[in-house]
Amino acid sequence: MEKKNIDWENLGFGYIKTDKRYVSKYVDGKWSDGVLTEDDTITMSECACVLQYAQTIFEGLKAYTTQDGKIVVFRPDLNAQRLANSARRMEMPVFPEEKFVEAVEQVVKANAAFVPPYGTGATLYLRPYMFGSNPVIGVKPADEFEFRVFCTPVGPYFKGGAKPLTIKVSDFDRAAPHGTGFIKAGLNYAMSLHAIVTAHKEGFDENMYLDAATRTKVEETGGANFLFVTKDNKVVTPKSDSILPSITRRSLMTVAKDYLGLEVEEREVYFSELKDFAECGLCGTAAVISPVGKIYDHGNEICFPSGMEKMGPVTQKLYDTLTGIQMGRLEAPEGWIKVIE
Ligand SMILES: *Cc1c(COP(=O)(O)O)cnc(C)c1O
Repeated sequence: MEKKNIDWENLGFGYIKTDKRYVSKYVDGKWSDGVLTEDDTITMSECACVLQYAQTIFEGLKAYTTQDGKIVVFRPDLNAQRLANSARRMEMPVFPEEKFVEAVEQVVKANAAFVPPYGTGATLYLRPYMFGSNPVIGVKPADEFEFRVFCTPVGPYFKGGAKPLTIKVSDFDRAAPHGTGFIKAGLNYAMSLHAIVTAHKEGFDENMYLDAATRTKVEETGGANFLFVTKDNKVVTPKSDSILPSITRRSLMTVAKDYLGLEVEEREVYFSELKDFAECGLCGTAAVISPVGKIYDHGNEICFPSGMEKMGPVTQKLYDTLTGIQMGRLEAPEGWIKVIE
């Protein structure tokens, strides 16, 4: 298969239109057979539920070329499961999990020429999503929905290596107790835009959100979960019902335990503990782990011993091991890698 003429090494993290996308529609209580289409536009009513009341959810995952030239996708079954959970909370019909994985597979296959070659640092980012498409003016869920998957090639999240980030403790909240923080819904992002623009204007890379009820516990950033490393090399991640369960973070916890032999803990993490930790990272599909060097809290700074030049040693090992698994350099746990034939 001939690859597209793209400067893979210099790709940014942006949208590039690819050849095919997958569409299935939910009408009269059932999902239509999905089709691949070249049409990258969507036509719907001006009163569509998604436009008026933001009834929309999404997923994000990647396809890679491995060292031996296979195209693989990382744990798509977990994205299928998470989209189903998001759908239930948003009063949307569940898209069958096996059909989700098939849709992802079809989109990768149909756009194989856009899957970046091994060693370029680039990957094919996949975006499954679902939205309420029929007109709704009184507040209620839509009756008709579309499930779609498109893809776009993206460059390495950090060009020239990952420089540690500086993040600020936000004065805004991301998620309420008993709210929607644990699902991947567009609405959680819409309301974070002001907080992120504010943080950037002030010169910070990201926001750290605390628990909305007590503002004493660490939750996550706008789009990534936290991992901390204690001074005695324990890997700790915050536990809360309002955190989005990152597949990268869950995978890294397994890697820490089973590949690196480290002790791992998922528990409430108090902000007051952070000054005693050795390393801090943000985990998500886009960057795998981004190291955090410094946290700014209303005039006070917490500087991690790992510093502002490079990842801490444990963070680096976690990063190398997980990317090694994804790129086929290390043996993967059962079921983590789906080969696209
Ligand atoms: C998507 C997302 C993450 C990262 O999840 P991954 O499955 O690792 O990509 C973390 N936090 C939020 C709020 C997210 O939306």
